[in-house]
Amino acid sequence: MKETLFEDLKKILGAKNVLSTYEERLTYSYDATNTSFMPDAVVIPQNIEQVVQVMKYASANKIPIVSRGAGSGYTGGSLPVKGGIVVSFEQMNKILSVNKEKMYAVVEPGVVTQNFFDEMEKFGLFYPPDPSSLKTSTLGGNVAECAGGLRGRKYGVTKNYVLGLEFVLYNGDIIRTGVLSQNGDSGYDLDGILIGSEGTLALITKIALRLLKRPAYEETILAGFNQMEDAAKVVAEITASGITPSILEFIDGDTLACVLEFIQTDRVEKAAAVLLIETDGEKEQAHKEAEEIIKICQKNNAKSLRFADTQEEKDNLWKIRRSVSASLLRIAPTKVNEDVCVPPSQLPELVRGIKKLSKDYNVQINTFGHAGDGNLHVNFMTDSRDKEKMHRVEQGVEKLFDLTLRLGGTLSGEHGIGTTKAKFMEKEVGKSGIEFMKKVKQAFDPDGIINPGKIFPE
Ligand SMILES: Cc1cc2nc3c(=O)[nH]c(=O)nc-3n(C[C@H](O)[C@H](O)[C@H](O)COP(=O)(O)OP(=O)(O)OC[C@H]3O[C@@H](n4cnc5c(N)ncnc54)[C@H](O)[C@@H]3O)c2cc1C
Repeated sequence: MKETLFEDLKKILGAKNVLSTYEERLTYSYDATNTSFMPDAVVIPQNIEQVVQVMKYASANKIPIVSRGAGSGYTGGSLPVKGGIVVSFEQMNKILSVNKEKMYAVVEPGVVTQNFFDEMEKFGLFYPPDPSSLKTSTLGGNVAECAGGLRGRKYGVTKNYVLGLEFVLYNGDIIRTGVLSQNGDSGYDLDGILIGSEGTLALITKIALRLLKRPAYEETILAGFNQMEDAAKVVAEITASGITPSILEFIDGDTLACVLEFIQTDRVEKAAAVLLIETDGEKEQAHKEAEEIIKICQKNNAKSLRFADTQEEKDNLWKIRRSVSASLLRIAPTKVNEDVCVPPSQLPELVRGIKKLSKDYNVQINTFGHAGDGNLHVNFMTDSRDKEKMHRVEQGVEKLFDLTLRLGGTLSGEHGIGTTKAKFMEKEVGKSGIEFMKKVKQAFDPDGIINPGKIFPE
């Protein structure tokens, strides 16, 4: 570590925006993977000028520099695995402008996703991407991971809403992208490269986001099944029918039982799997789509169908889905959470495969997720202190990835690659894919200091 690091950073940002004590830095050493890498320093910039100066300083001294939103990432993206400076965007958290007529907003990266959603509602506008972590995650982290969410099936994911970006390059240069016209085709799509790049190419300092009109009406249904495969078949059939529910979430039976106990409710029956479904739009259309979906559920042996007639009932059903992650933390000390994604038509095959993996490797697997996009969160419940069990889990995870790729899917639907999946990247993109991506990285980051140790196998 450079001896004058703290003094130098304090000159750039002012003493109060530089965290140097062990305790302060420890707080920024974690993310949701529950692993810890200690940063040498943490800085909290207040504006883009400070970001530029820190970036120039890191480049001049070849010090790793790692962007951080809320640290809710599941793949180690914000962890300073090679030490260096963590740049926390928590105070660059302003909504800079909202254009109601043209339906877009410009924000700083540290805005918390839920706050943005709530603020846009006040303008009668709607920002659809809604990761389950929305109460904590930031829009900068969402862009860097291309976060998905519960409404992905109908409304798409973060990349579908980014109109433009401002970002700081390794040498302190500032790039601004995006046009206000309907189309824009001047040169390379730099937004496309930055979105989902997991903070490895540049530091994002501003985001322009497209907004929609809030749907007038929603119908919410919870469908229970005696067989997991039947629920998966419903998802495949809904997709094939051309109906696009706004939400189509899957929860397996063990996970459901765990949540029901956690939130202490007996208002919902246990089942081998449930689907939480929402249709939206004009009342008549949402209602018609819900009726079609009910028919598909009945045809596939749904054993229960529950409708939310009131906002309270809707909130109750939603509480089940929103409490899944927290409830699972109680049943094993370690949760290895993978977010594989397959074409929805292949979900029955994926669900069957996951059941087999659980048997073959003798490990409890809890599965839930955004089934409408084919994106399932497959959680291997284990204990990181038990080496033999962790070995079985690692084998199971690798087989899960093999199965996913065989089914035409991808290693990550929304959580990114980070450190946890880097060693499997070649399986999906091949050697030349990795080599080519490294050239892109080299162009953005010639000295390899911007969030090093992520995405690529080392
Ligand atoms: C309970 C729970 C539920 C979740 N549910 C979902 C879900 O439904 N969908 C989903 O997609 N994800 C989900 N996640 C994962 C996580 O919340 C998302 O990946 C989220 O986008 C991370 O945002 P963050 O602000 O916490 O970013 P961080 O974790 O701090 O960082 C994530 C990545 O973004 C980079 N980054 C952050 N800010 C910037 C910036 N300004 N410039 C450049 N790079 C930056 C970091 O370097 C890092 O690589 C969930 C996580 C938890 C714990």
